Amino acid sequence: MPTENPANAPAPSTAAVQQAAPHQDFIRQIVRDDLAAGRHSAIHTRFPPEPNGYLHIGHAKAICLSFGIAREFNGWCNLRLDDTNPGKEDPEFVQGIKDDVRWLGYDWHELRHASDYFDVFYRAALKLIGDGLAYVDDLSADEMRAYRGTLTEPGRHSPYRERSVEENLDLFRRMRGGEFADGSKTLRAKIDMASGNINLRDPALYRIRKVSHQNTGDAWPIYPMYDFAHALSDAMEGITHSLCTLEFEDHRPLYDWCVDKVDLPNHPELWQSVVAAGLEAKPAKPRQIEFSRLNLSYCITSKRKLAQLVGEHHVDGWDDPRMNTLRGLRRRGFTPAGLRLLIERVGVSKQNSVIDYAVLENCIREDLDATAARRMAVLDPLKLVLTNLPAGHEETLVFPNHPKDESFGTREVPFARELWIERDDFAEVPPKGFHRLKPEGEVRLRGVGIVKCVEVVKDADGQVVELHCTLDPETRHGLPGADRKVKGTIHWVSAMHAVAAEVRLYDRLFSVPAPDSEEDGKSWLDHVNPEAKRVVQAWLEPAAAGVEPEQRFQFERLGYFVADRVDHRADAPVFNRTVTLRDVWARPAGQ
Ligand code: ATP
Ligand code: MG
Repeated sequence: MPTENPANAPAPSTAAVQQAAPHQDFIRQIVRDDLAAGRHSAIHTRFPPEPNGYLHIGHAKAICLSFGIAREFNGWCNLRLDDTNPGKEDPEFVQGIKDDVRWLGYDWHELRHASDYFDVFYRAALKLIGDGLAYVDDLSADEMRAYRGTLTEPGRHSPYRERSVEENLDLFRRMRGGEFADGSKTLRAKIDMASGNINLRDPALYRIRKVSHQNTGDAWPIYPMYDFAHALSDAMEGITHSLCTLEFEDHRPLYDWCVDKVDLPNHPELWQSVVAAGLEAKPAKPRQIEFSRLNLSYCITSKRKLAQLVGEHHVDGWDDPRMNTLRGLRRRGFTPAGLRLLIERVGVSKQNSVIDYAVLENCIREDLDATAARRMAVLDPLKLVLTNLPAGHEETLVFPNHPKDESFGTREVPFARELWIERDDFAEVPPKGFHRLKPEGEVRLRGVGIVKCVEVVKDADGQVVELHCTLDPETRHGLPGADRKVKGTIHWVSAMHAVAAEVRLYDRLFSVPAPDSEEDGKSWLDHVNPEAKRVVQAWLEPAAAGVEPEQRFQFERLGYFVADRVDHRADAPVFNRTVTLRDVWARPAGQ
């Protein structure tokens, strides 16, 4: 087939794949212990994406973990849209997130929005103020930063820290009433300005932002900060194990502080507002557990950067098959089972590592090898005429759909005197070790028999335009002579029966393993691989054409392909290459 390998592509780094037995990771061990000790009668997890973009490959790890553990231990997992940042969030993304979670094979116990709890958060804040644990600060953001101190120096108390409870209650109510300008006041937790953990130096709990919210409109001029909203959401949904990535480790003391100090279950009045938000009272003290992010070479897993790729038209949209968003991977033909296999293989730990993109590709190949039917297609056609067959000769051959699995059944493949083969399956001056067709040479046509090249027809420019071959009738498939050995077997399609198709050949979006590294003064955008999409006009055997969008095949010897989810039609087929059959990036240069 045409070689896609940029010869100078660097070899990927060695895969850091954990060898631990699947499902024996430290989080599952904690869950097992908690259940055995009777700490919970059932476990409850949640997946809390912010609807400010589509989900990416990294999120697949968080999804498989939280939903997977809930399923394995007969518990529940909520899908919670963490929509506490007005302006950046969009209902389009909410729908996208729901679709993607379902596509990966999971469903939620309850679908919640953090914005459903705005009233609870507000009352919880009033409670903290009443208990002398929160105060309204008039320092500006810059001043607050200056007062915060550094890793080596303690912070200083704000001059507003000792306001009375009454004054704080009054000011906070007026913040809520919309009386003050954005940024002019902040509600802060009163914890410890000298704490070694900067997250505990009187962190902000609420800020003023007069921005319309996608769910609550203009009802709120103040919005809760992530740590406060997240901890309380977990507590009120009865989450037992709150799984998140390592960057939240330093936030855990604040998470616990919020849960403990608000103490929702022991405040009937607050519980009433929880119930009003549509939740049953399920007192549980959630435990936050952190795990390492999924990082993959050749990938970007920042929503901001993925949005930039879309916004600046480096790709054709969030679902462009080059994107490592879940919808991009889906459109590319990646399978949910293949992605779940990846997550199982990389395992769960607190160790940060970068997984080689080839590990992902291998998981997809493994799944598709077992699940994709085989077809023949020619991507770069060269005419081959079997001169010893009569003009108008036509036959119907029967091919198995899968070489290893009879349950896939068989299909009819039309065969005739004129065929298309891949241009690079013929070489006039064959390189050493070339086992395909050459002048006077022989090759087996898949499922047909052995053909010999007797004449090479060229045009005025010396380009090869046609091969004249003879088919050895003794070697036809099924006859005793079919056992005769030749070194190569090539695929083909019948020229008169073939269906024209657009085939999009995709490759990795970035040409270096760590596009984010910013080495040599280059930005990540400088590493966008211009060869990552190439469109060719190809010929398909008829059985590959009249299929549904998203149907996946192995085109023999070429790779795995999927009928495009958006553009494919039976009468105008469009296929995307999901992945080649082997890792073309791992080959040494020049091969
Ligand atoms: P970004 O920083 O690109 O905005 P995010 O982490 O803020 O991404 P969220 O929508 O907040 O995105 O993420 C939802 C959940 O997915 C979080 O609990 C987060 O820990 C988890 N998550 C995000 N990226 C990864 C990753 N690469 N590997 C594992 N989990 C991830
Ligand atoms: Mg986030």
